[in-house]
Amino acid sequence: MTSNTASAVSVAGWNFDNSYARLPESFFARLNPVPVRSPHLVVFNRQLTESLGLRSQALEGDEGAAIFAGNLIPAGAEPIAQAYAGHQFGNFTKLGDGRAILLGEQITPDSQRFDIQLKGSGQTPYSRRGDGRAALGPMLREYIISEAMHALGIPTTRSLAVVTTGEQVFRETPLQGAILTRVAASHIRVGTFEYLSAQGDREAIRTLAEYTIRRHYSDLITAENPYLSLFQVVMERQASLVAKWLQVGFIHGVMNTDNMALCGETIDYGPCAFMDAYDPATVFSSIDRGGRYAYGNQPHIAQWNLARFAETLLPLLHANQEKAIQLANEALASFPELFQRYRLSGMRAKLGLSTAESADIDLMNDLLSCMQQNHADHTNTFRDLAEETLADAPLFRDAAFLEWYLRWQDRLARQPQSAEESRSLMRAHNPAVIPRNHRVEEALQAAVERRDFTVMKRLLHVLSRPFDDQPGHDDYRLPPEPSERCYQTFCGT
Ligand code: AMP
Ligand code: MG
Repeated sequence: MTSNTASAVSVAGWNFDNSYARLPESFFARLNPVPVRSPHLVVFNRQLTESLGLRSQALEGDEGAAIFAGNLIPAGAEPIAQAYAGHQFGNFTKLGDGRAILLGEQITPDSQRFDIQLKGSGQTPYSRRGDGRAALGPMLREYIISEAMHALGIPTTRSLAVVTTGEQVFRETPLQGAILTRVAASHIRVGTFEYLSAQGDREAIRTLAEYTIRRHYSDLITAENPYLSLFQVVMERQASLVAKWLQVGFIHGVMNTDNMALCGETIDYGPCAFMDAYDPATVFSSIDRGGRYAYGNQPHIAQWNLARFAETLLPLLHANQEKAIQLANEALASFPELFQRYRLSGMRAKLGLSTAESADIDLMNDLLSCMQQNHADHTNTFRDLAEETLADAPLFRDAAFLEWYLRWQDRLARQPQSAEESRSLMRAHNPAVIPRNHRVEEALQAAVERRDFTVMKRLLHVLSRPFDDQPGHDDYRLPPEPSERCYQTFCGT
């Protein structure tokens, strides 16, 4: 092992446990990050640091840079790379952390447990042909989008820091190397189960299922069929998560089974993006040629991924295989309805509705089809509905929309809540700002090309209060000019 272990760093508040590293050795490989030449801390999340029980002051200097670069291992950490597999665009592959190291689990002062993972930290036994490294642009992009998602109230991994490494990584061109410190409730993926299942190791699957239950869903320990309940709760979390994505126009871009976390957090920000004009066929990822992971396809893919998860659980669901398949199928079949319930309740909030009527689904769908017809901006249309500033919008020249608008006004009038109450419900669910691609690209360009991080910091500041009016920052609400439109985001490896 080439990295140093520092005992003094616990003044920073590190309080590691390493429960994953106590699982069977086949679940991971033990190794340290590969040290880098010249670590430099370029972005640091003070608030998150403090909420983890860590001290910003101790981590903002050289020691923090060395830790977040993997050059210095904090006391109590037991670094590992996790093994997993996954279906990538429908095809099964063995993967694993090819460029990430889990330092350990930070236990916070209020006894919460968070994975602290370095991404871009060098080769591991799972690197296949990759260099184990990451470029600065994609790591900053993950930082911006994940923190924006958090501020939008969407379950997500968080970003603690980005360091530049002082080394180049070679993609199509040489790029600056960087490492992101990612914080997650855990990194257990559908693909982690698939990995063990592919090895035919039933006992290992049971061990991982029990671990997952203990770590995330401890109420289920006493359930009649804890593994079926595990499947159901994971399904519930995914239904809720994907509904939240749709609510803000988020497109994950690579919903492979290795990028679906069982804790229900959004994970792995690669070619993800937020939609401007509403169109369910929107795709940004340059590698998603068939539109498999298009905006509107995300619920179907979630269900497809959950089917892969269910397959791995079959031996635990019932001793009789046919019965196990029946249980899994029954559970899985409830997904569309479950999703629709989350989708509809989220949409009711976006429309200021506190009560439920059966025709609300038509109200939702009719608005969306008007928006699609008119290429209306997803974020601004909903925010305008909340702010009653819609009269200026081009949508108001559309007869179908005007008909819809009157129907919506009638619907609002039928509920007991006041107009003011509806308005505040809408304002709390319709963000004014999202990380629009052209603003994200602008921030990344300044950082990567000019080492000017002020553009990114301003953007992060605005994105940290997405539901507030922020006078002086209205330009962040503007959709891109035709010349600024980004049609593709590239898979950030
Ligand atoms: P992702 O598309 O980021 O979810 O990554 C898919 C798989 O490829 C994961 O197993 C990663 O660890 C691995 N991977 C991505 N980039 C690299 C790299 N530069 N070196 C090694 N492995 C990588
Ligand atoms: Mg991944």
